[in-house]
Amino acid sequence: MTTSERQKPVFRFAPSPNGPLHLGHALSALLNQDMAQAQHGRLLLRIEDIDLTRCTPEFEAVILRDLDWLGIGWESPVRRQSEHFPEYQAALHALIERGLVYPAFLTRGEVKARVAAYETTGELWPRDPDGTPHYPAIDRERPEHEWREILASGKKHAWRLDMRKTLDLIGELLFWTETGDTRSGEIAAEPEVWGDVILSRSDAPSSYHLSVVVDDALQGVTHVVRGLDLFHATSVHRLLQVLLGLPQPIYHHHRLVLDADGRKLSKSEGDSGLGELRAQGLSGADVRRLVGL
Ligand code: GLU
Repeated sequence: MTTSERQKPVFRFAPSPNGPLHLGHALSALLNQDMAQAQHGRLLLRIEDIDLTRCTPEFEAVILRDLDWLGIGWESPVRRQSEHFPEYQAALHALIERGLVYPAFLTRGEVKARVAAYETTGELWPRDPDGTPHYPAIDRERPEHEWREILASGKKHAWRLDMRKTLDLIGELLFWTETGDTRSGEIAAEPEVWGDVILSRSDAPSSYHLSVVVDDALQGVTHVVRGLDLFHATSVHRLLQVLLGLPQPIYHHHRLVLDADGRKLSKSEGDSGLGELRAQGLSGADVRRLVGL
């Protein structure tokens, strides 16, 4: 890569191949391309396939075909997250060494049962902005020699960030630069509204939050353009960037494409699926109009 290439803004579109793309993804991909072109930047494609149970090569192939039909062009090689687990593990280990992460042994069902039992008292259990209950304190409070013993016994576990300890360590407000549709300017991050976020799963050696910040840094991404549904996640991403000493991109969270009932589109919705629109004979230009570009 030449020096002038290296200085260009870098955008990325980062779909998960756990289903076919819909109009919301089309808006995201088209905006990334338009903004990259307007700023004489580069556009990368990243396949976020760490969830090995739900992501498939077949969905990936369909995504590539639909993006091509939409008229999106991206640089090769495509980065596929499932090929980079050791990089995410290295970041995780750095945080384990600093005592900011602990192994979490409760299954999803066990967490659910604890939350349900607590809520019979009429009190609400705290939840993340995406509605997931905060992880109970039990494992966070466990002394290290104890969790090391449990780990040695081979028990399945995830790794979670000790949010309170981390925020005490950072000890300052964090901000990110936002150029998005509903809010713009310097946005104060609020990682405290999240519980102890998951950084590595029992069934995948990373998590969305960890791999996205590691990859954005490794790929030199300067502009993250994505849907408003990920606005709150940016608080966690800023925190991880500071902890791992990674640069911060500029963020642009765009409006979501909603269905006729005003709900966010899901991957199972046939009629807004790009494959379906393509089969109906629509063109990439028609999709542009459908998403209001
Ligand atoms: N892989 C995520 C998704 O498909 C997008 C992640 C991001 O843009 O940060 O929703």
